[in-house]
Amino acid sequence: MKIIIIGAGISGLSTYLHLRKHLPSHHTITIYESHQPSALPSLSTPSPPTPLTVDTLSSSTALVGGGLGISPNGMRILRDLDPALHDTVCAQGFPAEHFVFKGANGWTLGMQKTSDRNVRGEGEKEEVCISSSRHGLWERLRDTVGEGVVVYKKVMSIERDVGRDVVLVRLLDREGNEEVDEADLVIGADGVKSVVRIALFGDDEKFKPKYTGQSGVGGFLNDSIPDFVAKNKAMVFTFGGNGFFGYSSAAPVTSQCVMWWSTFETPTLQTSKNIDPVAIKAEMLERHKHWKDPILHDIVQKAEVQSIYPTWVLDELPHWGEKGIVLVGDAAHAMDPTTGQGASQALEDSKTLALLLAKTLAEVTEEHDAQKEGEAVSVSIKLFHQIRSPRISRIVDRGKKIAGSKANVGVVAEYMMYIFLWLMMKYPSIGKFLSAPDDAEFGG
Ligand SMILES: Cc1cc2nc3c(=O)[nH]c(=O)nc-3n(C[C@H](O)[C@H](O)[C@H](O)COP(=O)(O)OP(=O)(O)OC[C@H]3O[C@@H](n4cnc5c(N)ncnc54)[C@H](O)[C@@H]3O)c2cc1C
Repeated sequence: MKIIIIGAGISGLSTYLHLRKHLPSHHTITIYESHQPSALPSLSTPSPPTPLTVDTLSSSTALVGGGLGISPNGMRILRDLDPALHDTVCAQGFPAEHFVFKGANGWTLGMQKTSDRNVRGEGEKEEVCISSSRHGLWERLRDTVGEGVVVYKKVMSIERDVGRDVVLVRLLDREGNEEVDEADLVIGADGVKSVVRIALFGDDEKFKPKYTGQSGVGGFLNDSIPDFVAKNKAMVFTFGGNGFFGYSSAAPVTSQCVMWWSTFETPTLQTSKNIDPVAIKAEMLERHKHWKDPILHDIVQKAEVQSIYPTWVLDELPHWGEKGIVLVGDAAHAMDPTTGQGASQALEDSKTLALLLAKTLAEVTEEHDAQKEGEAVSVSIKLFHQIRSPRISRIVDRGKKIAGSKANVGVVAEYMMYIFLWLMMKYPSIGKFLSAPDDAEFGG
């Protein structure tokens, strides 16, 4: 069988690795990726990279170079996939053993261990949240995939050739040449602005991502990690009446990498044309000037805005694929970064889909029985959605509750928010959304 994965982001690369691990080698797998990554920033050079723009890099982000948390559930997937990959991801990141929640008024609202120890079986190794640059995680996955697998061509559209029972993939290369490839299975790992989703659902607005009016901004400082962060291995989230600010590290303590992120409310979508990191920094200084945390002030003073990531969310889709086309990761369920689960859910998707395909295809005894393989793929796609979508819905719902805490509110609402967050931390069973030890969901 011929498989094409579209997108070499977190979900595309990890789907490739899981398929290679679980499927017999006679199935061929190609990855098409639209953006040549040579210019991507690296944590070894945390100073601001030359801004990369939507036009040159990705249609889902404005400036690139942000950070993310890989929760214990995501780290377990990496460990099961490949212990060496797991260890290199840990080694380049920062083990955030605690989430610390603060109010802009200086209150500490709670501290939560990120460890999954209480849901591990006896003798099983515990995982904690690994704070990492997106690029750091992505680079480790790409190195494990190896050279020559990713083909740098942009996918323009997908369509089914019903008569021949294959999926046609229209491609454009860097020189502007068009060509068509075909596959028995196309996996859309092409992120929030997925063209594969358009192939499944058409141009209907209902199935398109929506901009939330908030953009994540962030960056990395080449500075010693604040004592509080280093001592508690902490990721700190501070909520205020006029916004949100988070900080931690994204590299081993010796690397002197302070990671920070915040939200920036802007009804106009920031693009490469109207983006102004200097104005965003000035706005940030103004917004946080009355906040009480001295660490936060120090970071805001030194910060340079290196990454702007507009928040797009997708309403629940009725299905994630059919007839040889399936969506994974953000293409299927772009969620608010507040969930802290974007990357981890992409990792969970890739393992689930690969295991289902391996199981159903194993029942096909003849090596090139296209009809039986097609049926196995259809069953896998259906089961994939049935298994994964309830979990995704729960995570999206929890994220919505927190996302509201990042918007501008009045003083009364601000203090209600502090008390609400404190209560949730102290008595998790009340809200059941900050205390999912299996997920350790929370993020910027
Ligand atoms: C450049 C970039 C920066 C990001 N920065 C952050 C961040 O700072 N913080 C955060 O929380 N999350 C960030 N994310 C999102 C985060 O990576 C995802 O939420 C999560 O990892 C799920 O990943 P995914 O693989 O499903 O989608 P993505 O990581 O979005 O990967 C999709 C991939 O598909 C490629 N692609 C898209 N369209 C096509 C096409 N037509 N043809 C071929 N290839 C295509 C994209 O170039 C990309 O490599 C970023 C994503 C990208 C692409």
